Amino acid sequence: MLRAMSRASVRAKAKVGRSEAKPVGEGVTRGRFAELHLHLGGAVLPNILHAYLRRVKHPLLKRYPTVERLERFFAKPRRTLDEYVRMHKLVEHVQRLDSIPYFVQRLVRGAVLFDNLAYMELRHTPWFRTDSGLDERARLAQMEEVVEAVSMAAMAATKTYPLIFKQVLCMHSTLSPAVNRRIVELAADRRGEVVAVDLAGPDRLYDGMLREVGPLFKLAKNRGLHTTAHLFETATGISGVGLRRREKVLPMLDRVGHGIQIPLQRPGLLKAMAKRGQCLEVCPTSYLKTGTLKRTEELREVFSRCFDAGVDIAICTDNSGMHGVRLPHEYESLLVNEVLSFAEMARCQKAAFTHAFGWTGEAPKL
Ligand SMILES: [Zn+2]
Repeated sequence: MLRAMSRASVRAKAKVGRSEAKPVGEGVTRGRFAELHLHLGGAVLPNILHAYLRRVKHPLLKRYPTVERLERFFAKPRRTLDEYVRMHKLVEHVQRLDSIPYFVQRLVRGAVLFDNLAYMELRHTPWFRTDSGLDERARLAQMEEVVEAVSMAAMAATKTYPLIFKQVLCMHSTLSPAVNRRIVELAADRRGEVVAVDLAGPDRLYDGMLREVGPLFKLAKNRGLHTTAHLFETATGISGVGLRRREKVLPMLDRVGHGIQIPLQRPGLLKAMAKRGQCLEVCPTSYLKTGTLKRTEELREVFSRCFDAGVDIAICTDNSGMHGVRLPHEYESLLVNEVLSFAEMARCQKAAFTHAFGWTGEAPKL
C-alpha cells in the first residue's frame, strides 16, 4: 500500500513539476523538517508584529502598547474554531502589500535558523491582503500583486537562508463564489510558485458553499494544481446535514487539513483514503487552542488508527507564531507525551516530504 501511495504521489508531482522552474534554494537546504500547513497570518511572532507596529507608528499600538499585551492576546484560550479564526483578522489587517516583504523575510530567516526547515508551504487568502477601500474588480486584480510580493520576498530571503518555499492559496468560506473562483484561477496562473489550493474559514459556513467549491477543486486539478482543505477538524465539522457534501469533497483532495475527526468519528473512511494516497495535516497545538481537544494525549487514537489503515500523517504547526510553538517542538511534544514512538515520529517526518507538493527527492535523514 505504501509503495503504491508513493508512486501515485511521485506521478502527481512529476505532472506539476514539468513546467516549473527549479525551486528556490534546491540542493542547498540543510533543514530536517517540512512544514506543510502554515498560515501567513499565524506564522508571525508577536515580537516581530509589535516591532512592525512601532516602526510604522500603527494605530493598533493604542490597544497593544507593549509586546506582552500582544502576546497575551494571542495566548488567550479560545472556546471555538470561530473565535480562533477571528484572531487572524488582527494580523491580516496589518499584513498588506507594503508590509508583506517585512514579514515574509523574517519568517524565512526564522524557519531556517530556528525551525530547522528544509521546505515550507505557506498558505494565505490573498483577498484579505488587498486594499479594502478598492472596489471588487480592483481587489481581484490586486490579489496577483499579493502573490507576487510573497514570492519576491521569499526569493530574496532564501538566497541567504536556503529553503524550498511554495505558496498555497486559500479559498475562504466567508468569500463569494466569484472571489473564490478567481483565487483558484490565480493559483493556476502562478503555478510553480503556487502549488495548491486550500479551503479555509469557519466550517459552520461550509454547508452553504460546498456546492460551489466542488467544481473549483476540479478546476484546480485540471489546471495541474494540488488540493487540500480544512475539513473534519471539529466535532461539528463531521455532523449535520452537510456531511454528505463534505464526504463528496474528500476524494477531490490530495491532503486533508487536520481531518482528525475522521479517525476519531468516521474511521470507516480511512481505508478509501489510504487507497487514494491521502495524507492528514495534523497540527497538535491548534486543537488545544480551538478547544477541539483537551489534551495532547487524545491524539494517540488519531495516529494509531491512521497508521493501522495506512494513512500518512504530516505534523504541522498551523500558526507557529501565534501559538509560540515551532515545528520541532510539535514533534518533541508528541514524543514526550508518548503519543508517538521515535520510529513513528520519523515516519511522520518522512511522510511530510513524501506528500509535500513541491519537494522532489528523498526526505532528509533525522
Ligand atoms: Zn489551518
